[in-house]
Amino acid sequence: MDLHAVGRSGLKVSALGLGCNNFGGRLDEQGSAAVVHACLEAGVTFFDTADIYGEGRSEEILGRALGDRRDEVVVATKFSGGEGPYLAGASRKVVMAACERSLRRLGTDYIDLYYQHFPDPETPVTETLGALDDLVRAGKVRYVATSNFAGWQIAEAEHVARANGWSRPVASQSEWSLLRRGIEAEVVPACAAYGIGVVPYFPLASGLLTGKYQRGEPPPRGTRLGNSALFASWATTAVFDIVERLDTMAKQHGRSLLELAVGWLAAQPTVPSVLVGATKPEQVVKNARAVAVRLSADELAAVSAATAPPPAVFEPARRR
Ligand code: NAP
Repeated sequence: MDLHAVGRSGLKVSALGLGCNNFGGRLDEQGSAAVVHACLEAGVTFFDTADIYGEGRSEEILGRALGDRRDEVVVATKFSGGEGPYLAGASRKVVMAACERSLRRLGTDYIDLYYQHFPDPETPVTETLGALDDLVRAGKVRYVATSNFAGWQIAEAEHVARANGWSRPVASQSEWSLLRRGIEAEVVPACAAYGIGVVPYFPLASGLLTGKYQRGEPPPRGTRLGNSALFASWATTAVFDIVERLDTMAKQHGRSLLELAVGWLAAQPTVPSVLVGATKPEQVVKNARAVAVRLSADELAAVSAATAPPPAVFEPARRR
């Protein structure tokens, strides 16, 4: 498994990252641990969770599954997505309290990459970045990062951190897939300009880009779309038009749809790691193979053309 630097920082992450938002929700402790162990086996060293996933259980399960291998991996978690005045938003009070809780749940004394999960229009950026810098200086956080920020918010955070000599965000996590390319207009250029790594989430559009869902057929039982009416509503005619076009193209090139979806993101210069969620060890094995595929320049151009102009086929990103 290749390792890549996150933006212009010294932090290195595996080309495939594991998204842990299924842990402690659809996936119980045993199932989650099996996925984590399959990742370690495949050379995945980048694990992404959040204080809100599984209402805190995702962090607990991930911490236990990593066990004494904690120092061999990069653990990313997030704050600001909670409920109420003291766990939602990005005030100094939230940042400090959320960090302590995450450390406790993860069973670790440091977080490698600490994301502000959502922008907080009610808190000055100086307050949030100042608090995050204090956590870095206290040794509780190694690197700070943002998620779901607009391009201008990324630029603002960069300049505020620079002006104050604080830790600057090294990564930006945003939804990015062949079905949702909106961030290419503003977020990706901002990150490229400032040397910030773009970590794409929902790279498989929750499985729609794996070929497991077919037009006109109900989602298979036990899958994410089969379990949730909200996710199932993503499977629109417009989505299947693109998925089927990509699937045909994949077959013409002797690839799988999964390889196109993961390989196209992995080839983007700003992307250090593609963050894929998994519910089974076999999925991890396939995803690790897919991230190792090198699509040719012609294939990348054809895939881009087949999904451009950026289609707004889903609702805009919201708190999840
Ligand atoms: P995703 O990676 O697009 O889809 C993951 C789902 O795809 C899995 O649950 C699994 O579905 C299916 N899958 C994975 N590999 C497969 C394979 N090889 N073959 C067939 N199906 C496969 O979406 P995601 O997991 O929600 O997103 C990735 C991560 O991004 C999350 O885990 C989370 O850490 C992060 N995230 C961040 C935000 C944010 O606001 N910052 C928002 C959302 C997610 P089944 O469940 O059906 O098996």
